[in-house]
Amino acid sequence: MSAWKNFETNAIRTQAERSHQREHSAPIYATSSFVFDDAEQARALFAGEQEGNIYTRFSNPNNDEFIDKMCLLEGTEDGMAMASGMAAMFVSMAAFLNQGDHLLICRSIFGSTHQITTQLLPRWGISHTYVDIQQPEAWEKEIRKNTRMIFLETPSNPGLDIIDLELVGDIAKKHGLLFNVDNCFATPYLQNPAKYGADLITHSATKFIDGQGRVIGGAILGTKASIEKVRFFARHTGPAMSPFNSWILSKSLETLAVRMDKHCENALNLAMHLEKHQDVLLVKYPFLPSHPNVEIAKKQMKLGGGMVSFELKGGIDQGRKFLDSLKMISFSANLGDTRSIAAHPASTTHSKLSSEERASVGITDGLIRVSVGLEHVSDIIADIEQAMEASKK
Ligand SMILES: *Cc1c(COP(=O)(O)O)cnc(C)c1O
Repeated sequence: MSAWKNFETNAIRTQAERSHQREHSAPIYATSSFVFDDAEQARALFAGEQEGNIYTRFSNPNNDEFIDKMCLLEGTEDGMAMASGMAAMFVSMAAFLNQGDHLLICRSIFGSTHQITTQLLPRWGISHTYVDIQQPEAWEKEIRKNTRMIFLETPSNPGLDIIDLELVGDIAKKHGLLFNVDNCFATPYLQNPAKYGADLITHSATKFIDGQGRVIGGAILGTKASIEKVRFFARHTGPAMSPFNSWILSKSLETLAVRMDKHCENALNLAMHLEKHQDVLLVKYPFLPSHPNVEIAKKQMKLGGGMVSFELKGGIDQGRKFLDSLKMISFSANLGDTRSIAAHPASTTHSKLSSEERASVGITDGLIRVSVGLEHVSDIIADIEQAMEASKK
């Protein structure tokens, strides 16, 4: 794997080794296993004395191409492709946390990550403390003798809260804690947590990395030492990505930079438009001057991202009517697609939380989350305008 100076070039020119067919675009290696030359090579491969593919649950040329690119784009030493974003989140915790360990985690977190923390990890004796976004001092105050890892998401889903990566990274380093960042909303194009000392960077590749809503996938990236543990855990428990999905995702990375520039431009335009709107109570977008942490967002992100959250004045009733009135924008559970997608977190992704739990992470009943797509921004705004009018009737 050789590296070029710039993000775009690394995203395009990092490729699996060309075969004897001299293909220009990497083929799909649809094979479960690989053939050994002889007994000695088989022994050396299994002993880890020689690098090479053995079995697709361990590694595959397509998965390696995808991960080699992701490592260059995130600035990490190593990584492993996972079957989904949630496989990445779970493995990045399960490979490190032992019975009796404690996890510090941000309060505003993806719904399924919340379920892992509150429903699954406690079964294995792993406890957690949620840290409120409004109280950055709590990251240090809540550290216990048995705290092993800090896990956070910034910008958060769906509240678009921003956490200071430099601040938390310094605390993690000072106390010798593993620092794990879900970088799904920003993508490696907008934000690189490794710069702030993250040991583990986790991704749902299903979102902006795929960018066209076709496949489910994930990745764990990090230092050589941390990925060695991830690899041991994953090799024997089996959350490997399918070579077809990594082939798709590696191609998608070739256009990540141009897509993200446009997602961010459209999202900022929509956010500015909504902020002036008389029917809108509040708009959240990391690069809007009104965002409570806009300074931190500008310090650690290249652009504000493709997600906008807003609250209609009419609460849950108007919110539901608004979604039912959209004509172009899709009403769907995904995000990061070329097609704009609207969602209602309170009744979908975060419905398993109690309304108190939702309120504590800023998910009000009328909150609408828009994944701003690559359609012309005036068509996106026009659809939102007509749905807002219809929702008032
Ligand atoms: C979607 C998402 C996940 C889960 O990823 P899947 O690919 O759906 O398993 C995790 N974290 C965040 C922030 C997400 O948006």
